[in-house]
Amino acid sequence: MKCPFCRSDDSRVLDTSHDKRGGTRRRRECKVCQERFSTYERAILDTPLIVKQDGRQEEFDRDKLIRGIQISCDKRPVSATDIKRLVGNIEVNLQEMAEIEVSSRVVGDMVIAGLKELDEVAYIRYAIVYLGLEDLGSIQDEIDTLLEN
Ligand SMILES: [Zn+2]
Repeated sequence: MKCPFCRSDDSRVLDTSHDKRGGTRRRRECKVCQERFSTYERAILDTPLIVKQDGRQEEFDRDKLIRGIQISCDKRPVSATDIKRLVGNIEVNLQEMAEIEVSSRVVGDMVIAGLKELDEVAYIRYAIVYLGLEDLGSIQDEIDTLLEN
């Protein structure tokens, strides 16, 4: 941490405080020129890049994910707030993985797990598209699994 007055690297910490957003404020005194200054540190949480099945990478797109889920929830008792909360949780989970890139499957699985708890019909609709369930047999299997749980 360079002193803003003399550019020295040598400072001592007088006081440390933490704020609600996970930041750390430090009051420092430069050992060379004795000037005092404050620094503020905050971890930057980056959402990993999403790697699609064809190998292309894309930024995590919160709005796109929300739209996809909304389609599955059409006319179902799932509120916009529920969907936003689900996507918010997914985003936090992705950030906490602290990976540079994550397969789109991981994101899809998180959506499926979340929808399963919110609404079973919305879950099945999403699963049909996402898992690529193409025939009635595999859709039936998925519904059977759901009914067993
Ligand atoms: Zn200094």
